[in-house]
Amino acid sequence: MIIVLKDGAQKKDVENLVDTLKTKGLDIHYSQGESTTIIGLIGDTTRVDPEAIAQLPAVGTVKRVSEPFKLANRKFHVGDTEVKVGASKIGGGTFGVIAGPCSVESERQLFEIAEKVKKSGACFLRGGAFKPRTSPYSFRGLKAEGIELLIAAKKQYKIPVVSELTSLDYIDLYQDVDIIQVGARNMQNFDMLLELGHSKKPVLLKRGLSSTIEELLMSAEYILAGGNANVILCERGIRTFETMTRNTLDISAVPVLKKITHLPVMIDPSHSGGRADIVPQLSKCAVVAGGDGLIVEVHNCPACALCDGAQSITPDTFDGLMTDIRKLCEMEGKRV
Ligand code: PEP
Ligand code: MN
Repeated sequence: MIIVLKDGAQKKDVENLVDTLKTKGLDIHYSQGESTTIIGLIGDTTRVDPEAIAQLPAVGTVKRVSEPFKLANRKFHVGDTEVKVGASKIGGGTFGVIAGPCSVESERQLFEIAEKVKKSGACFLRGGAFKPRTSPYSFRGLKAEGIELLIAAKKQYKIPVVSELTSLDYIDLYQDVDIIQVGARNMQNFDMLLELGHSKKPVLLKRGLSSTIEELLMSAEYILAGGNANVILCERGIRTFETMTRNTLDISAVPVLKKITHLPVMIDPSHSGGRADIVPQLSKCAVVAGGDGLIVEVHNCPACALCDGAQSITPDTFDGLMTDIRKLCEMEGKRV
């Protein structure tokens, strides 16, 4: 249920309203816009009579929210959420680009890529250290050493970093990682989501391989309900019958999500297409679909990559892509 307050509602009337709601055992969520204030009610609202609440002096309108996701719901929140790390932003009119290798492989590999993607305009560096791989025989990342190298690149090139957490057992290693990525395979690892909700560190939540848009939002709800408002959603392709691409980029998910949630929405053109040759086109779709950013795999030698080389673009291709992204963002009235 949401309550839209009257313009110029008196402080004492608002306090009275909040007290009334709290005595019914409900949690209160405030969203303050320039001219509108919304109070979102979380909990069992079946005992609340909307008509009685509507009579209180501070109240403008009262509406039931039928969707099961509440805190992620646009109805609960005035304006778009913007996730900020230092000067780097994603959402709220800023199109943020995260770029880097699938996996951290060596200092030389990571530093060369970091320098180039930063120069081309990436606002975050990505690099996996704990890799969820389908085969136990594949390269599974440099683990703690990979995180250390990522932090060293962050310091050297002054660029915030993003890395995937595959188990809460490793969380202490992620203190200096700026955005924690929850991968597609962990989208419904509810214990992990709850734990990430207890910090303020931004979380990039990727859509599960076979998850619906609503399930993605319900997973975001776990993090938001713990008190962490810094959640970024990511469409990374879903599994379909199609075999020409690794997954099918569900481009419709972007405008659909933008309608129903205030959270920023990114696209991963690398894991969705699975092919470097179509990554630039898929990336450009993100801008015109109303997305808030991209997470894209870039490798200085895709043919030698230890993971996901076939879908990794070169730093030169990335540089050209950024030029196009800037033009498209200008057209859409967004900052890069
Ligand atoms: C990744 O970004 O490295 C990754 C493994 O992505 P996903 O979880 O979307 O498969
Ligand atoms: Mn990858």
